[in-house]
Amino acid sequence: MSEDEVPAGVRVRADLAALPAYVPGRTVSGAIKLASNEVSAGPLPSVLEAIGSAAAEINRYPDSGATALTERLAARAGVDAERVAIGCGSVTLCQQLVQALCTPVDEVVFAWRSFEMYPIVPQVVGVGQRRVPLTAGHVHDLDAMRAAITPATRLVFVCNPNNPTGTAVRQAELERFLDEVPEHVLVVLDEAYREFVTDEQVPDGLTLAKQRRNVAVLRTFSKAYGLAGLRVGYCIAPAVVTEALRKVFVPFGVNRIAQAAAQASLDAADELLARCGEIAQERERVSGVLNEAGFAVPPSQANFVWLPLGERTTEFSEHCLTNKVIVRAFAGDGCRVTIGSPEENDAFLAAAASWQR
Ligand code: PMP
Repeated sequence: MSEDEVPAGVRVRADLAALPAYVPGRTVSGAIKLASNEVSAGPLPSVLEAIGSAAAEINRYPDSGATALTERLAARAGVDAERVAIGCGSVTLCQQLVQALCTPVDEVVFAWRSFEMYPIVPQVVGVGQRRVPLTAGHVHDLDAMRAAITPATRLVFVCNPNNPTGTAVRQAELERFLDEVPEHVLVVLDEAYREFVTDEQVPDGLTLAKQRRNVAVLRTFSKAYGLAGLRVGYCIAPAVVTEALRKVFVPFGVNRIAQAAAQASLDAADELLARCGEIAQERERVSGVLNEAGFAVPPSQANFVWLPLGERTTEFSEHCLTNKVIVRAFAGDGCRVTIGSPEENDAFLAAAASWQR
């Protein structure tokens, strides 16, 4: 059969053929993986213990509403529990927010380049999208994002700090943007990397979500809390939004091991957040060395740095791989490098230093 003949039998949506699938960071045995913004330290003993206890009950479905975790997160944030929704990773919540708010005639606005799932989600859900280019400094262009909002816009993602550039928008500019966004538009502050922020002028989205009627915050246990392998994230949003989220949820999405590990991680929050402080210090060291070498790394507030390498991006990532370091390449644009342990960062810096610029 020739390639353009339509085979008989099951058909999938034609528009999915044009959709690029999400490409996860590579894993290569024997290489240091700095490609997925994970923390490189393994789980705490207390978290492993909680996982073991939860595993003893896996013959039972988990608590579908993740009640205990929800109540804990609500108390920490100072909001009613009804305003907290737990998801199977915050990426699932991104998709569920779009499902809960948008019909096929509606649109989602987001900056580009930003989190790779933002363009994929609206297409999968079947709603419109508008991408707004970052500024030349790799930062969200909030004025242009405001201008991109139309009567069809239902949701705006603001990734703060931004993946993959690490840049963050500050309090005054974000407040001004929020003042101007029409109240029927939900602004989702995706704060997957919030715990690595050291600039005091970068706002805490939770505070904004408490003050405003159209702001939601996304957080995750995957990064600072080191639970990427268990898939737990949460959204704090107006009650009308979390109520709708619960309707689009897949039942029992967050398993009992994940729920238990997230709670044990909250018990150990002080220790885990201190670790984020150390990662932020390493970030400054790595950025400094790279900038001295001429890589033009924008200021990062996350646990990764961005190297704007343009057409030489793939060549650089292949060079790193030859030196047993895996970085994340966005072809034609740049490389994102996760901050690992000091030894891992040194291995990356050595690879970068041996690259012929
Ligand atoms: N938002 C942003 C900005 C991210 O970078 C990521 C992960 N790469 C996520 C959300 C999703 O994280 P998770 O599903 O692991 O919670």
